[in-house]
Amino acid sequence: MEPNAGSDAAGIETRAEKRGNKWVLNGNKHFISNRANADVVMVMAKTDKAKGAAGVTAFIVEKGTPGFSVAQRQLTMAGPPEGQAELVFEDCEIPEENIIGGVGLGFKAAMASLDEGRVHVGAMSLGAAKRLLEMSVNYSKQRVQFGKPIAAFQAIQFMLAEMATEIYAAEQMVYNTAWRIDNGESLPTESAMVKLFASEMVGRVADKAVQIHGGMGYMAELPVERIYREVRVLRILEGTNEIQKLVISRSLLK
Ligand SMILES: Cc1cc2nc3c(=O)[nH]c(=O)nc-3n(C[C@H](O)[C@H](O)[C@H](O)COP(=O)(O)OP(=O)(O)OC[C@H]3O[C@@H](n4cnc5c(N)ncnc54)[C@H](O)[C@@H]3O)c2cc1C
Repeated sequence: MEPNAGSDAAGIETRAEKRGNKWVLNGNKHFISNRANADVVMVMAKTDKAKGAAGVTAFIVEKGTPGFSVAQRQLTMAGPPEGQAELVFEDCEIPEENIIGGVGLGFKAAMASLDEGRVHVGAMSLGAAKRLLEMSVNYSKQRVQFGKPIAAFQAIQFMLAEMATEIYAAEQMVYNTAWRIDNGESLPTESAMVKLFASEMVGRVADKAVQIHGGMGYMAELPVERIYREVRVLRILEGTNEIQKLVISRSLLK
């Protein structure tokens, strides 16, 4: 994404201009993940200003290409220690063969990968939630207050039951949708539902996990507080949850 184009992905300002048999990229990207390991990056740029999404083209840019640099690390609430990156393209020359798909087809290609990406976020949410539940069950059996394990208190039992129920619902959604995509279906609405439900679900589960662990849930000594911070971004990545609701409601109202 770019500083001025996040949810409005077609509003990117990075330009690619044809000069001879090369394309010249100018612009900035930010919040980019995994740049520490990347030998190549895929960059969306406007090749036709007059067109919206249809004027966006995808380019492959290799590490070390003159004009391509990493401007700064952007540290996050919980992400990897190296953080996200801001990428800068200044008169960065790219050969024609580095175009993915074709001129003007970048946005379409990016949209086509969204179904899988959103189910992937659902699966990440599910995995984190299961781990939090497992830790909460174990802790509630071990932690003794008022002469009994806290698992004996109905308040704790109910939180565990709610966590498990939401996890079960998300699991069905993730697995069913992944299976249908694997079998060739295009499922933009269902993928948005999976992303929306599962990422909200893990937020609620993480909150209950902290509560069940009491003060220990807040301490860096246990992984609960780290996971609580890590899962927050799942409501923002891969299209914010407000954008998922737009996708879902548009399909209902079209
Ligand atoms: C840790 C992390 C890693 C990331 N990795 C990458 C990456 O590798 N590559 C990449 O390209 N991007 C990456 N991103 C960017 C991510 O995709 C964007 O942050 C996300 O799409 C939201 O854009 P934004 O941050 O500009 O928020 P904005 O679009 O400015 O949104 C701000 C708020 O307004 C709401 N909003 C916006 N438009 C509407 C609307 N039409 N209706 C209702 N509400 C609306 C949003 O839901 C949100 O609540 C990453 C972000 C983070 C935090």
